[in-house]
Amino acid sequence: MKALAILFATSEMAPGVKTGGLGDVAAALPVALHQARQDVRVLIPAYPALKKTFPEATLLAEIPPLAPALPAARLLSAHAAGLPLLLLDCPALYERPGNPYLDPLGNDWPDNPIRFGLLSRVAALLGQEQSPLAWRADVVHANDWQTALAPAFLHYGGGAASVLTVHNIAFQGCFGGEPLVTALGLPDFSWRFDGVEYHGQLSFLKAGLQLASQLSTVSPTYAREIQDEHFGYALAPLLRHRRDDLRGILNGIDATTWNPANDPALVHPYAANRLAAKRRNKIALQNEMGLTEASDRPLFGVVSRLTHQKGHDLLLAIGDGLPHLPAQLVLLGSGDQQIEAGFLALARRHPGQIAVKLGFDEALAHRIEAGADAFLMPSRFEPCGLNQLYSLRYGTPPVVRATGGLADTVIDISEETLAARTANGFVLADESPHALWLALERVCATWQDKKLWQRLQQNGMRRDSSWAQAAGAYLALYHDALARRH
Ligand code: ADP
Repeated sequence: MKALAILFATSEMAPGVKTGGLGDVAAALPVALHQARQDVRVLIPAYPALKKTFPEATLLAEIPPLAPALPAARLLSAHAAGLPLLLLDCPALYERPGNPYLDPLGNDWPDNPIRFGLLSRVAALLGQEQSPLAWRADVVHANDWQTALAPAFLHYGGGAASVLTVHNIAFQGCFGGEPLVTALGLPDFSWRFDGVEYHGQLSFLKAGLQLASQLSTVSPTYAREIQDEHFGYALAPLLRHRRDDLRGILNGIDATTWNPANDPALVHPYAANRLAAKRRNKIALQNEMGLTEASDRPLFGVVSRLTHQKGHDLLLAIGDGLPHLPAQLVLLGSGDQQIEAGFLALARRHPGQIAVKLGFDEALAHRIEAGADAFLMPSRFEPCGLNQLYSLRYGTPPVVRATGGLADTVIDISEETLAARTANGFVLADESPHALWLALERVCATWQDKKLWQRLQQNGMRRDSSWAQAAGAYLALYHDALARRH
């Protein structure tokens, strides 16, 4: 079959620009598609971090102002992992400190609709006749609200088929009102309930969900959940309406970066048949984080954004009980100030037993996956979740709620699942501190039985979370999008 020309449009990409799961997907899925012999290019704003990573980037094309509010820009060409990278250069919009969406004080940049309106518009342009490149996308793959206007531009302006993937429906990109439509270069008639309008605002995500040729999200369970008001908010009716075009495709993980047998962040590499060395990573982590070198109790690990979504308030509520389980806790994260302060205070009350580091630290995240005995992820919702997949691979059984991708990947330990050799973690009965406490008691009891624990670890480590499988599913989705477009 002829290779498809695919434009993967994204607002972040690991390792340089990452606020969450999308960054990891953007770094891995295009590479897997490239390895599957597809003609893939990645479009991303030329943030300072990327300009620094790719100082050799060359000018590919000038882009004139495409709408009243969209400034002129340039496309720069670079290569990452053998893959062509298109950097959208517009210093006035993208050369800023802070993360891609927020200023250094944590507030949304006020011109985000312009910043990501331009990104969406250029993504669409590269799938249209007017493309400034000789290369033209057959399919434009938009991701989350930041590029979700691309399908709208393609719907109204003609061109490539489009796919929109929802990585997290909680962020929808709603801005201003009708004047924004003209400012961004959308036709006036797109301002309607089955166009880009959403409760009097322009919603990037809603526009994409309404107008993309095909939709996907990052796990089968989340694809079902977002059709329900509780998870999908007011977008649930639209998603039910488009349910035949909506697919759940589980993320893979970067099996090279996340490989305990060959992880530069670890002093003691290990594998499923060499689990003894994992214990040395625990001791190293205890030392690094100022925990006592206790070997009689499990060490729980957390690496997470500290937000309501992630459910760590449940952990805070029972935190003072952890040393009595007995268990230790190491937490790396950042987010809500109240939750951050709560964990700092908890660590101060239990020196040597609970250690907390605020901030984003990729290498420490690896050492926690390797050094912890079990990984805690009591999320209220979790579109796919990557950390439970890393945990499975690192022989660190995850403790999760049955939601989204957690429900699709973590299988609670029971007589039946042990017999079937599928048991690989612990699932909370419900969303309460009590349920978390009961699950942690089960973890402690299971951990004391070293043989049983090892079976659990090895079941998890056997799981194939490679991107090759996901890439095949995306390819099928692209072909469906093309069939629908024609
Ligand atoms: P989400 O995208 O909702 O934040 P995921 O589990 O899908 O959650 O992906 C989170 C990614 O970000 C993982 O790669 C995780 O290791 C990483 N991460 C989250 N917080 C931190 C942190 N404080 N330091 C290092 N890595 C982090």
